[in-house]
Amino acid sequence: MLADPARSAAEKQTALEAWVREYLALTTYEISCPALRDPTLAPAGKTGVIVSTLMDYRLVKAIAEAGWYPAFKALCEEQMMVVLENSIFPGLTEQVEQRFSSTPLTIERLTGNSDGAITGWAFRDEATAGKLPAVNQFRKIAKTIETPLLHIYQAGQWTFSPSGLPVSILTGKLAADGVIKRLAKQGRADQSGDDSGGRR
Ligand SMILES: Cc1cc2nc3c(=O)[nH]c(=O)nc-3n(C[C@H](O)[C@H](O)[C@H](O)COP(=O)(O)OP(=O)(O)OC[C@H]3O[C@@H](n4cnc5c(N)ncnc54)[C@H](O)[C@@H]3O)c2cc1C
Repeated sequence: MLADPARSAAEKQTALEAWVREYLALTTYEISCPALRDPTLAPAGKTGVIVSTLMDYRLVKAIAEAGWYPAFKALCEEQMMVVLENSIFPGLTEQVEQRFSSTPLTIERLTGNSDGAITGWAFRDEATAGKLPAVNQFRKIAKTIETPLLHIYQAGQWTFSPSGLPVSILTGKLAADGVIKRLAKQGRADQSGDDSGGRR
């Protein structure tokens, strides 16, 4: 539809707005209230609600290029509040004092994650699958920490795919263990007077 030259920009926007509204009415949401665990995260008597859903990077990118990204964000925020108001959270809309939203474009800009993925490298289609610049087989995860640079280890969401918090923590531990192991080896080599050992 976006590529259809027979449709005007206004027609495309109207059709897409309707699609986005319907999508947001039918999709699922992840909802969290961090101040329930840590009350210092909100002023007394108030709270914050984070509502997340899946959104296609290519769609948001096309909307931004078509020039109505701010309107798209406002539409999503309003429609998500309508959905919650009419389902699990009656009275939500009138209690919201401040709101803002992030999209895959925001995540791409702030983190550098490919296609605005929530973590590291985006899931790719078959044409690019297996060509990520990261280890993607769990049995090879120990290799994620290796770099071409001597004495430099790496860890985190870009070193393995698919990643996430557990992989980021695990690769951090692997890298830290690697450094400890190398220093111990180097220490032993220094003690024995062999300064070539343990430096690689
Ligand atoms: C909305 C959202 C929901 C998510 N939900 C989940 C989930 O449910 N489960 C899950 O497993 N994962 C989830 N993730 C993914 C998870 O948050 C990431 O995979 C993880 O935080 C990555 O950890 P990291 O240490 O590799 O990178 P980051 O947490 O991004 O840490 C990198 C740090 O480096 C700093 N930095 C960047 N550049 C520089 C520089 N030049 N100099 C110094 N410091 C710099 C950054 O400020 C940042 O603090 C989610 C992510 C998002 C965005």
